[in-house]
Amino acid sequence: MIRIGSGWDLHRLVPSGKPLIIGGIEIPSKKGPLAHSDGDVLIHALIDALLGALAKGDIGSHFPDTDPAYKDIDSMELLKSVLQQELPPYTIINVDATIILQVPKLRAHIDAIRENLSKNLSLPIEYISIKAKTAEQALGELGSGDAIIAQVALLISG
Ligand code: MG
Repeated sequence: MIRIGSGWDLHRLVPSGKPLIIGGIEIPSKKGPLAHSDGDVLIHALIDALLGALAKGDIGSHFPDTDPAYKDIDSMELLKSVLQQELPPYTIINVDATIILQVPKLRAHIDAIRENLSKNLSLPIEYISIKAKTAEQALGELGSGDAIIAQVALLISG
């Protein structure tokens, strides 16, 4: 059986925020996410896409942001938990993600993010697409560089 999943996440970006980590890769940035965890927006959207494909709730129901256990946690650890505990017997076919960020530009970091996802998902890099867009300086906080959004679509089979 093949199932589709979609995920979406947003974090505010603030000057005194945490390091900007996208897909497990630290991106040099003047602003970082306001978040209970490490604020990795791409991994959060990916987790929601996986849980969505499985119809097993969402990231908030599995890892509540009121739980001190998840404070400042590396989101890759949350992803690993979903991959090990929830995904089997399914496997991921492909991942297609879009990141919307005004600054900094992500183009130079896209392949590093894809490689890191490839390693963590045990999925060849040619099945992992990451697209980066700006908000064309529109859409309020997104266009002024004070927020970041990630969207993920994926297929699983099993
Ligand atoms: Mg999040």
